[in-house]
Amino acid sequence: MGIPATKAKNIIDLESIRKDFPILQTMVHGQPLIYFDNAATSQKPEEVLKAIREYYTETNSNVHRGIHYLSNKATTQFEEARKTIAAHLNAAPEEIVFTRGTTEAINLVASCYGEAFVKKGDEIIVSAMEHHSNIVPWQMLCERRKAVLKVIPINREGELKMEEYKKMLSPKTRLVAVTHVSNTLGTINPAEEIIALAHDKDIPVLLDGAQAAPHLSIDVKKLDADFYCFSGHKTYAPTGIGILYGKKEWLTQLPPYQGGGEMIKEVTFEKTTYNESPLRFEAGTPNIEASIVLAQAINYINKIGLENIAAHEHELLVYATGKLQEIKGLQIIGTAKNKGSLISFAVDGIHPTDIGMLLDQQGIAVRTGHHCTQPLMNFYRIPGTVRASFAFYNTFGEIDFFVKALNKAIGMLK
Ligand code: PMP
Repeated sequence: MGIPATKAKNIIDLESIRKDFPILQTMVHGQPLIYFDNAATSQKPEEVLKAIREYYTETNSNVHRGIHYLSNKATTQFEEARKTIAAHLNAAPEEIVFTRGTTEAINLVASCYGEAFVKKGDEIIVSAMEHHSNIVPWQMLCERRKAVLKVIPINREGELKMEEYKKMLSPKTRLVAVTHVSNTLGTINPAEEIIALAHDKDIPVLLDGAQAAPHLSIDVKKLDADFYCFSGHKTYAPTGIGILYGKKEWLTQLPPYQGGGEMIKEVTFEKTTYNESPLRFEAGTPNIEASIVLAQAINYINKIGLENIAAHEHELLVYATGKLQEIKGLQIIGTAKNKGSLISFAVDGIHPTDIGMLLDQQGIAVRTGHHCTQPLMNFYRIPGTVRASFAFYNTFGEIDFFVKALNKAIGMLK
């Protein structure tokens, strides 16, 4: 496969970084844990764990409503967190909406943008490699509006067929929603090109950044994305928090998502007026703790440097790919030229779940199954894959042990 190997070694101080993640010391069935399920959720560094405790011991209070000390402190930290996240994405704070995660961010856009702009006969474009979270909300919208869902096809390597995509963009297209990095194939899609082609026809683009934000530096201005979303829990922060970036010009045009406190200006029984964005999209008490802690997690990864993270993870990908390619009967699913740090594979005649269970017995956590991309499994005509997904705290030694354990598992199952 076409992944260029880089020469750089020891890009990050692995020994010290691993000490930041207490869970990595866990023993599983008598073996040290090897955590290769980072695409499902990442582990949390001590700084994040400390920030959770600090929030509840020093700050806990509701935001935007109180006049007392703690409420002001919580509000300041919450809005500072929004600024940190905005700066990280090169966005303005009012363009950052706190959500429960990527799934809710996509549902928000499908609901609000759909309500304002999508009508009968319009088209929404997604791709063949989308997570169910970036398929089903659009399907539901299309059903409501009698609109049509179009799917950008992929080649066997797991890359978008860009010529087909170009042809699909039409005056009927209302929005393009594609993943930045595929959670099953690892493909890094040509986001700037996808966006530029759509913008040539005045079509906005949403990027699902769930698998990109933990690994790549994201500049929404440079990308010129209209909407961008990601989940805190995959980005070294807690569950239950996510980000929707929306260009100001879009967010100001969208109707509210849910009704309730925070999102209103004034309520009477005759008529309610709504707050400006982003609060207009944040009905009810938000996940204050996780919002603040997400900013801490981002500060943590920025200290290591996303470029260093990407470089180390690329080394892991190249190393593991080479080792896995040596295993007879193993087929890597997703061999795009531009790939993030995960490998999906199938082994002739063996069900992925059986491999996953035998790896677990040896202390190794991988994901098996369809990875919430059933249409992709249908495309490859397989029931599922085994997926090993790496984070910057993973090591070459762990890959060596994993390959040995995998060979042992295959030997037992053949
Ligand atoms: N999109 C992609 C590409 C993902 O990998 C995931 C999580 N597996 C999601 C969306 C959904 O994210 P969440 O469950 O955190 O909302």
